Amino acid sequence: MHGRKYIEHLTGGSALHMNLDEHLTKEQYAELLKVAAREGCNYFTFNIPNTVCNDCEHIDKRHLAKCPKCGSENLDYLTRIIGYMKRVSNFSAARQKEAARRHYATPAQV
Ligand SMILES: [Zn+2]
Repeated sequence: MHGRKYIEHLTGGSALHMNLDEHLTKEQYAELLKVAAREGCNYFTFNIPNTVCNDCEHIDKRHLAKCPKCGSENLDYLTRIIGYMKRVSNFSAARQKEAARRHYATPAQV
């Protein structure tokens, strides 16, 4: 959907935000970069939620349900908004609803 056949009709630009539930291997990332180049997707980013513990403030680059440092389940998640990371709990109410509907692909789906 973000290849040249589609984005050539957009006058305001286009950016693919590829939401992934976990990091890929180097080879998997390389394959996606090849697909993007072949299809003419000229601007995109990978977005894998980081976990931040509200109790001990540990930040992990993975999307987790429990803090690996203290075991707390009082967690928040950091996700990319354009070029920077932001806590999902700091989103507006409407944006939090939208964030809950986001689909994060697993490597088997990519
Ligand atoms: Zn913790």
